[in-house]
Amino acid sequence: MNDSSSAPQHFVIRGADVIDGTGSARFNADVVVANGLVSAITPPGQGEAREVVDATGLVLCPGFIDTHTHDDQLLLQPTLPHPKLTQGVCTVVTGNCGISLAPLVTRTPPAPLDLLGADAFIYKTFRDYLAALDREQPCVNVVPLIGHITLRVRHVADLKRPATAAEVSAMAGELTQALDAGAFGLSTGVYYPPAKAASTEELLGVCAALKGRSAMLAMHLRDEGDNIDAALKEALDVGAASEADLVISHHKVVDPQNHGRTRHTLQAIEQAALGQSVCLDCYPYEASSTMLIAEKASRAQEVLITWSQPHPEHSGKDLKRIAQGWGLSLHEAAERLMPGGAIYFAMAAEDVERVLQHPLTMIGSDGLPHDRLPHPRLWGTFPRVLGHYSRDKKLFSLESAIHKMTGLPAQRFGLAGRGVIAPGHHADLVLLDPLEVRDNANYETPERPSTGIHAVYVNGQLALWRGQPMASHAGRRLIPSRAP
Ligand SMILES: [Zn+2]
Repeated sequence: MNDSSSAPQHFVIRGADVIDGTGSARFNADVVVANGLVSAITPPGQGEAREVVDATGLVLCPGFIDTHTHDDQLLLQPTLPHPKLTQGVCTVVTGNCGISLAPLVTRTPPAPLDLLGADAFIYKTFRDYLAALDREQPCVNVVPLIGHITLRVRHVADLKRPATAAEVSAMAGELTQALDAGAFGLSTGVYYPPAKAASTEELLGVCAALKGRSAMLAMHLRDEGDNIDAALKEALDVGAASEADLVISHHKVVDPQNHGRTRHTLQAIEQAALGQSVCLDCYPYEASSTMLIAEKASRAQEVLITWSQPHPEHSGKDLKRIAQGWGLSLHEAAERLMPGGAIYFAMAAEDVERVLQHPLTMIGSDGLPHDRLPHPRLWGTFPRVLGHYSRDKKLFSLESAIHKMTGLPAQRFGLAGRGVIAPGHHADLVLLDPLEVRDNANYETPERPSTGIHAVYVNGQLALWRGQPMASHAGRRLIPSRAP
């Protein structure tokens, strides 16, 4: 095998068990790749090409689509170690939870926008950000969303109240420009301080710009605890009114008194799905992670600090211990550590498993690449679903796990020619060992790459070989393909 990723590609992956991304059973075959596309699928031993990759005993599947990321800035920093290729991810959806890098120019982004990294907000328009992506040619494909929080910080004079009619129309106008430039849709995060005051009416006003555009709308619910039913209803209503393809972000319920409620939330989503386009994404862990919020931190069973601007020496430490050391309450200690980030242990295993198993659930890491000690989901999400949940816990078949990461998101986001291995489709491909694939990242050592991912091809170019990422720039910004 020639490791060079710049040579004209014409190769055959010989004798793998092909799991094609549709959810159908695996079959043994040769897959021929030429000029970035799958050119043929033949019975084993019959595929012809200049180079041969022996894939006996391995599974070949479509490249994974990380439906929920905060990689907006990571993609423009090719020198950073890349957590995605080592998991088999070939495509990332950016700009989630209302948080996008553009359009905003500021040196002091309010939390949670600061999760995207320091000195990152330099793009006056969404089009400018897309142009930067095109220039940098990231190592994976990009599906960009624009964030409502970013729009709000730019256009709403007082973040503590709902937007005025003029501000709503400014945000909707900017959303239209972003869609025209190539955004796939909008994300919202009315859970977060800069958008908490946004009323349902404000959301409806901004989202009106999505109408007739076959656009995506990814919503981080207003409440994932006691008031989850009302928050879910708000999201479904806004999705339906804007005729958008709705994604309920990182679906979960938090706090012990709410454990088990996914039984009902999933029923409500199924019911809604009869009349509107709705699906969800989920990461395979029982702890969440986001900005440090004192109130949330004082309720969770356990809190790990991922970063703290005033007290960087405490990243990786347990909040309870820090609070004891300072002789403060959890709430006071959290306030002293802010601005910062945290991992919160507040979910139940049964809820995580129920959501993961649901046929409308796609996999999204929600990883935070700029945290000093990030949640392990950044490096482990996809191998964890394949190894821990599919192979070891037998929660679902490998075919179904792969469908949740490939065919399902490609169909939902309208990524033509991706997500399924078929002749004429883009050669985003992953070769993995089904017996070996596993996540190694944990809360103590969260940046440990996974094992069992042998090779990753992005648009037909070798991007990872024997677990080692190559210096490849084969990714591209994807263009919304659905006709309005
Ligand atoms: Zn998120």
